[in-house]
Amino acid sequence: MVQRCLTTLSASERQALEVKISDYLLFRNEVDTFLSDHFSNLCTKKCYQNKLSACCSREGIITFFGDMVVNTLVSCNKEINALVEVLQKSNTGFKCIYLGNNGCMWRVKPIVCEMFLCEQAKKEVFMEKAWAEDAWEELKQRKKLYTWPDRPVLFDDLERYFMDAGYSSPLMYLHNSPGLLRVKQLGTSP
Ligand code: SF4
Repeated sequence: MVQRCLTTLSASERQALEVKISDYLLFRNEVDTFLSDHFSNLCTKKCYQNKLSACCSREGIITFFGDMVVNTLVSCNKEINALVEVLQKSNTGFKCIYLGNNGCMWRVKPIVCEMFLCEQAKKEVFMEKAWAEDAWEELKQRKKLYTWPDRPVLFDDLERYFMDAGYSSPLMYLHNSPGLLRVKQLGTSP
């Protein structure tokens, strides 16, 4: 749906959307750098190489509509088509359907996946580097500035943008979830 809508935009409209997400992409780069500096080695050795990929083996992931928009804006059609293609297949295994041979198939993976660290990994890393735990907490707070609707946030804007264009999706949680609507109404922090 996002891919279809993007093809109807003029170059300047698309560019305006790209500008809208640019700050968020910088944030995601910072998160990537943090994770690759502190967790990459551990997760690759302990989980990915032995094919466990436990964090991608949970029974369900939460994907926001904003995740879809961001990823579609930064991906080429071939990458998005590959995601659509795996969705047509039934998932007979215990792993997320988007987990390909080279890791996650999303170019900018869903924010919930990006910010998930298992307890064991956190314990191992943060025991040695307490300052890294502070940095991680700060990144988690910053995440909310894009996703948590106790104030105007990017993920809410992106849903509104597509709704105004006539699209609707059950993944538009910031406009559909009773809990998040209440947060919006009351302006409460989690
Ligand atoms: S979307 Fe990507 S990161 Fe998230 S669970 Fe699936 S494979 Fe893992």
